[in-house]
Amino acid sequence: MSLALTDVLARVETDAPKALETLKEYVRFPTISAHKRAQPETAAFVRRLLAENGFEVREYPTDGGPNVVYGEMIVDERKPTLLMYQHYDVQPVDPLNEWKRDPFDAAIEDGKFWGRGCADTKGNLMIQILAVQAWRAVEGRPPINLKVVVEGEEEVGSPHFASFVHANKEILHADGATIEGGDHLHEGTPKIELGCKGILYVEMMSRTAKVDQHSSYAAIAPNPAWRLIQALTTLRDPNGRIKVRGWYEDARRPTARELRYLKASRFESQALKDFWGVSEFVGDGGNFDVLRRLIYSPTCTICGFVSGYIEEGTKTVNPAVAKAKIDFRLVPNMKQERQLGKLREHLTSKGFGDIELSPAKEALEAASISMSARVVKAAIKGSVDAYGREPEVWPWSAGASTHGFFNEVVGVPSISGPGVSYDGSNLHAPNEHFRIADFIGGAKHMAAMIGRF
Ligand SMILES: [Zn+2]
Repeated sequence: MSLALTDVLARVETDAPKALETLKEYVRFPTISAHKRAQPETAAFVRRLLAENGFEVREYPTDGGPNVVYGEMIVDERKPTLLMYQHYDVQPVDPLNEWKRDPFDAAIEDGKFWGRGCADTKGNLMIQILAVQAWRAVEGRPPINLKVVVEGEEEVGSPHFASFVHANKEILHADGATIEGGDHLHEGTPKIELGCKGILYVEMMSRTAKVDQHSSYAAIAPNPAWRLIQALTTLRDPNGRIKVRGWYEDARRPTARELRYLKASRFESQALKDFWGVSEFVGDGGNFDVLRRLIYSPTCTICGFVSGYIEEGTKTVNPAVAKAKIDFRLVPNMKQERQLGKLREHLTSKGFGDIELSPAKEALEAASISMSARVVKAAIKGSVDAYGREPEVWPWSAGASTHGFFNEVVGVPSISGPGVSYDGSNLHAPNEHFRIADFIGGAKHMAAMIGRF
């Protein structure tokens, strides 16, 4: 580690308490995007924060959405550029009575920072600022160029961010990006993810009549619920294997290097079982088998199913319509359009061509980048500097995110991390918090990653 980096990491530690105070102010904005609350004032706060820390900042209006805040610090055109994406909006707070304190009265207690949005992802922006502050204090400026983009609608699916990106590809150009996320395992090891799964979300509908009928006609009238259930059972076997022909043919296979990292993972499947109160997983096995499946298996999930009468008492009806919402999680290289085509073909070939399929628009594609990308190497080395050990490296997360967007639309290889949360942070739930130790670790990780980029 260079002398400068050692000093920078020490500086992060010294300045962390002040950064946490600033974060309290930031978290006090009730920026719930689902309710369009406090967006202009939060954007203004972020703009000021970036400007005070040496960034050239602009707010970009979006067509009908809240402003995107964009800042850059170009120290030398010949140096590489790191892009950092976060969002300033947060999830709603209900059920409010389950919170131990006011979600927007940020506070530190028991070595933890509490408040809605502190971990997802207002705290992440703060560690980035803290890292930059430390570099500026020690060296006068960071060793690379930095760009920060903070949007205000991530928690409602970023409906206006795509148009911002398409219109501003030029300014977003960089040699690597970090995309929100970035958490820690319970025991403190940081985790980075080199991409995300994608989602194909479809509504499936069976309509067998124009109107509901008295169920005494069931001997002769078709039933859409049975019809849809029969169609659904052709999609997946009890072990979770998807039975649609050719479903897996594009799926990216694990590389030996990725598996080496997963073998060394500290992931504990028992902890998840206990947390959920689940006695057995779909296809059990040891920690490694479970983790491998969690990451590399495409999924087919019935998210909801409705038909007929389900209120109190009885109603003898033969319904006309049945609907199910299904999400297919796709691994990198599987594309929504192509998989949707396979699903249609499958249903037709099984005699279910009458089932109507309506895919949801704007779902996120799967994405992942190679472990040898500059941004990955910098994140791994930075973890050794900051934590004294390599991070958990997952080839992609089990959830969906905007990586594909940055990788493909802007052409910037992106990862998730470093960040402030851990697997008990209650993201999107009551009592959201992070551990102060992870905040300091994350900020050091960020500072070291900047130094190693
Ligand atoms: Zn979130």
